[in-house]
Amino acid sequence: MKNFFDQRENFRKDLKDKKLLLFLDFDGTLAAIVDHYKSATILQESKALLKQIAKDPGCCVAIVSGRALPDLKKRVGLKNIIYAGNHGLEIEGPGIAYTSFVKADVKSSFRKIKNDLLRRIGKIKGVLIEDKGLTLSVHYRRVDRKDLLLFRQIFLESAWPYLKSRRIGMSQGKKVFDIKPAVQWNKGRAALWLINYLGRRGHGRKTFPIFIGDDVTDETAFIALKKKGLCIRVGCGRPSAAQYCLRDINQVARFLRTVLDLKNGRIISRGV
Ligand SMILES: [Mg+2]
Repeated sequence: MKNFFDQRENFRKDLKDKKLLLFLDFDGTLAAIVDHYKSATILQESKALLKQIAKDPGCCVAIVSGRALPDLKKRVGLKNIIYAGNHGLEIEGPGIAYTSFVKADVKSSFRKIKNDLLRRIGKIKGVLIEDKGLTLSVHYRRVDRKDLLLFRQIFLESAWPYLKSRRIGMSQGKKVFDIKPAVQWNKGRAALWLINYLGRRGHGRKTFPIFIGDDVTDETAFIALKKKGLCIRVGCGRPSAAQYCLRDINQVARFLRTVLDLKNGRIISRGV
């Protein structure tokens, strides 16, 4: 996949006279991937740039993450932007408050899976179960390689009865299983919903969406948005539905700087 900074041309033209809708994932995009999900912190440079971008009336910033909404808001810590937590099942921002309805029996399935896992995982160290209300994440980044097979077996045995009967859905990210309600809703759907919503509020002004993310769950957004705007995958090694890639979170910060400079009408590097 081509790196945005090596290949992209006409970006200036894309942004000109349009309202920019900038969607960003959090972990692996604005914050480095860390061993324990609770240790992730936003890159300060990106935070400062997003703050500036969000002030521009021609821009709208939305952070779309698998994290629970309160956790995401705390970690980003910016006002006047949109937050979509739990893969878009809960969205909050200026004038927006949306929470997907999750049935009680789905929540009770989460609880049963969680209890079953806690009981059976026993000696396997490093499994972190994160209860996010509307979804349940089972992190295994810290599990020893020799225990991985057993861990996966136990996990699938615990979740399978609920998956089979479609009481729950599941997705996989980087060293994490996400157990969700079995609804057709994901980051891509949430982004389209927001584009629609913001478009209606934009009084006919054309919008240009950009989505940046690093993981499998972001691919749903790349597929949904690639014909409408610009999709960028963080990490250049793997196949992706995105048009371009950025090497790492530091290049994401550089990209944000480029957006800000273009929006401010500053002349920047050639080829952009
Ligand atoms: Mg991510």
